[in-house]
Amino acid sequence: MALSIAKRDKQREADKVHMQRVRLKQKSDNALSIAKNNAQIAVNAFIRTRDEGKPCISCGAMKPLTAGHHQSVGSYEEIRFNTKNINGQCWGCNGGQGNKYKDDTVDQKYDAGVVERFGQARLDWVKGPHHLKRYRVDDLNRIRRIFTRREKLYQRIRAKNGG
Ligand SMILES: [Zn+2]
Repeated sequence: MALSIAKRDKQREADKVHMQRVRLKQKSDNALSIAKNNAQIAVNAFIRTRDEGKPCISCGAMKPLTAGHHQSVGSYEEIRFNTKNINGQCWGCNGGQGNKYKDDTVDQKYDAGVVERFGQARLDWVKGPHHLKRYRVDDLNRIRRIFTRREKLYQRIRAKNGG
């Protein structure tokens, strides 16, 4: 009897520790995903400012630009913050809501647009392979700070030059 109580207490203690670990992990996953989002928002804002006044990388139209990833965030996590992988792209070419309308021709046009603007070497680089990166919250916060600063700098330069 005493043995089974001890065993039960031990199990309870183990469950408690396990749940604490799970909660801690959830908390850190959350912090990581928030930091990742914030970093991406800052990088994307920088791209829009950098490419303002340029045509859409895919269709060449002069339209309001979104930050369009060349290789998708989902499949190329390792270059999701790399400015070589992101260009001003019109809303339509970037797929609109949920990338529902994004088709192969848009990707092909993106490739062609990159070759035209930057050359074949850039396209080859984008296609990879790339080293897999493990971002820590600190890295992501640093990315956010760097790009927020960089975007403000570009804005200032632009204002100085009269738009
Ligand atoms: Zn376009």
